[in-house]
Amino acid sequence: MLAGLARDISQQVLRTDVAGMPLEWIDYREAVRLYHAEQVAYDCGTRLYSVFGGYSAIDGSRSRIDVNSIIATHGTSKSLSRNRDEYVPPLNNRTLFRRDANLCLYCGMRYMTRDLTRDHITPVSQGGLDAWTNVATACRRCNNYKGGRTPEQAAMELIAVPFTPNYAEYIYLKGRRVLTDQMQYLLAHIPRSSPLHARLSDHLENGEEIVEVLFHD
Ligand SMILES: [Zn+2]
Repeated sequence: MLAGLARDISQQVLRTDVAGMPLEWIDYREAVRLYHAEQVAYDCGTRLYSVFGGYSAIDGSRSRIDVNSIIATHGTSKSLSRNRDEYVPPLNNRTLFRRDANLCLYCGMRYMTRDLTRDHITPVSQGGLDAWTNVATACRRCNNYKGGRTPEQAAMELIAVPFTPNYAEYIYLKGRRVLTDQMQYLLAHIPRSSPLHARLSDHLENGEEIVEVLFHD
């Protein structure tokens, strides 16, 4: 049973390892399970909600678990810590469009997710890879116009350089709704040279919780 909700229960919790490296988003059930199993080393961020359990038969007290927005957990992290530097996130349209802020990288217009496509900058038919650095978010019109040509062949210009998100960036891009404190936390793990660093800094300066989510359907 839940009580004293500071946030909607659907708000995801950012889980980190004990060293504070971001790992994944978890839902409240998983968060409660980790607290209950005493797997939470420490928590930070803000209190999201409190979950109350049953009454104790011994003294009649009631168990209560306070769930924070960021929790650091014991234990190993699926061998991720070893490979973190070389980690390449799986490529999917949802995350790709988020990477590019729902902008068509050719005409620069912002679109709803359903109106966007994955463009292979060097077309697959010309040996281009289906990889982060060779894909761009494109509106249907630009993608159709470009066809099986490279940007040079089509005399089109990209408005941004496509990049491979690092692990923290990937977590950020996967977040359904990222709270300010979670954004701040992830920002510390995003290189200053990354375009996402500037974007997140802007959101934080403007006091915004994630706004890009508005462009999803
Ligand atoms: Zn376009």
